[in-house]
Amino acid sequence: MASPWKRAGDLQDLASYPLWIQEVVSEVQGLKDSAAGHSLFRQMADATLPAFAVANFFIRVWPVIEQFPQYMGRNLAKLQFGRPGHGLARVFLTRNVRVEQSHADYWVAWAEASGVPLDALLRGSPAAPSATLSHWCWYICDHGPLAEAIAATNFAIEGATGEWAQLVCSSEAYAASLPEEGRKVGMRWLRAHARYDDSHPWEALEIVASILGAHPALREVEGVRAAIARSYEYMRITLDDCLVDRSDLESVSASHGQAA
Ligand code: FE
Repeated sequence: MASPWKRAGDLQDLASYPLWIQEVVSEVQGLKDSAAGHSLFRQMADATLPAFAVANFFIRVWPVIEQFPQYMGRNLAKLQFGRPGHGLARVFLTRNVRVEQSHADYWVAWAEASGVPLDALLRGSPAAPSATLSHWCWYICDHGPLAEAIAATNFAIEGATGEWAQLVCSSEAYAASLPEEGRKVGMRWLRAHARYDDSHPWEALEIVASILGAHPALREVEGVRAAIARSYEYMRITLDDCLVDRSDLESVSASHGQAA
């Protein structure tokens, strides 16, 4: 039985959380930095990302953007009234599922402003390394314990995403690189995720701590740590893969597909 935990300090201060959470967050810091500070985002911020990588990025990250509200829906289905952390999770998930839905629309507008049409997003990519992140998120949200699923998605992915969105928005070069007519709408997704005061990852962390309490079993701690680490690693693998130009191979396999 978990020993109950209730936050006493500031939501956005790691010191307000149980020691085990503080340790997990510091253990995965390096993996987070390798995703959130990825060279793809640096090149994007400098407006030097090659066109093939821009297209890869919008197309291959799209499944996670599109499915994010569905991951939250899988977690909603796990809730039981009166269990620790489940009330917080209910409020968080029902509120934010609509927000994430509008973020999918913003992504489409951002892609279009970057020269990647909706059609290309819907067609998708055969690149297996980039599929790992969406497969993982679906798996953990569908089958995994609630605390691990929220840690993997609403904490790890949303938190790292807030950081890379800030990185891309940190210079004016990126916004200036978008065509003027689509710039305002095109920047909406980035601006929505680049807010320094974004409380969502913290709220997710509070839910994880409330579910597992102040002194969870070692395997529960390890489960949360591994879930967060996996999300960061699969993000990094996707981004690495987006920087590899396989457009020749993909057009060959597409023409094979048409011939079949
Ligand atoms: Fe979002």
